[in-house]
Amino acid sequence: NQFSALTDSLTSSFSLLPSNTAKLTPTNISPALQKIREALISSDVNVNVADQLLDRVKDRAIGEKVKGSVTGEQYFTKLFYDELVTLMGGSPTSTDDDEKGLGNDSLEGGSIAYPKKKGEVTVVVMAGLQGAGKTTFTAKLGRYLQEVEVDKEQVEGMGKEELEGTLRTRLPRRMRKVLVAPADVHRPAAAEQLRVMCSRASVDVYTPTDSESTSAVAIAKGSVQAAKEGGYDTVLIDTAGRQTVNEGLMEELREVNKAVKPDEVLLVVDAMTGQEAADTTKAFDSAVGLTGAVLTKTDGDSKGGAAVSIKAVSGKEVKFVGTGEGVKDIDAFFPKRMASRILG
Ligand code: GDP
Repeated sequence: NQFSALTDSLTSSFSLLPSNTAKLTPTNISPALQKIREALISSDVNVNVADQLLDRVKDRAIGEKVKGSVTGEQYFTKLFYDELVTLMGGSPTSTDDDEKGLGNDSLEGGSIAYPKKKGEVTVVVMAGLQGAGKTTFTAKLGRYLQEVEVDKEQVEGMGKEELEGTLRTRLPRRMRKVLVAPADVHRPAAAEQLRVMCSRASVDVYTPTDSESTSAVAIAKGSVQAAKEGGYDTVLIDTAGRQTVNEGLMEELREVNKAVKPDEVLLVVDAMTGQEAADTTKAFDSAVGLTGAVLTKTDGDSKGGAAVSIKAVSGKEVKFVGTGEGVKDIDAFFPKRMASRILG
């Protein structure tokens, strides 16, 4: 079970709250608050973020008359859920359709900018530290943007045209034609690994010309040009990963960005690194400017600290999560869903 340690310790913290319908007061919620704080911090949530979250919940909880048959514990848990959703960039009042990405587009968790006009190409630059899962994620994202799984019952009886029409209206950001650019010129095996993953995902990979092959900027430019000529609408540029956040890496990213003016710059971070993932996101955003983050390895025994901290520490939303090593193991990030999972 994902984040089970956090879920368990939150559940036992909540049980310290008044079980009757008494008013919540600073005194009767204090033991619970203290335990929740410990639970968050030992799950690698950034300390300031934990305090910010608890302050908000406390402000709302104290003095409110708990209505009807709701217990203090239930009431507090609902407030905690709402504030956790907000902290991760969501809105607790969004509808189920918004959650599925079927409603207002802007609320689709995994949305990637898409071409406004036919013939335009959306450019996405992928950045990350080595080992974060960038190569794997680039292939996953390509597949995700190209393909849509449909609920059989929902579309039963529809002809092909009606089905495509329906999908296009409901999921306009999907069903794209994607080209991936292998612009990691520092690690010789990187391009080959990217090709293998993309071939599994049925995503096309750009082949740099001989003169481009040693320059990330040249490959990035060449791939965007090739995408325009080849009828692609989206280019994902896989840039070099490095062991640490360093100036050389940032400089190369800035040059690539200057050359191709990306619509999105996504940072891939590893959930297992906890709040460090949030700090890395902040550092990359200050140095090169990000449009969002991607949290990989949420299937492993990561403790939840990254998911909770990234938005609050860096100001950047998590757009997707990686949930395994396979090319289909990707989910749009929905704060409500993540908060429910954390609360168990
Ligand atoms: P890169 O150096 O950032 O390009 O990282 P890779 O894409 O090569 O991934 C590093 C390792 O993490 C590989 O063994 C991947 O299979 C693994 N990996 C990537 N994403 C996930 C994920 O979401 N879950 C799990 N369990 N493993 C992942």
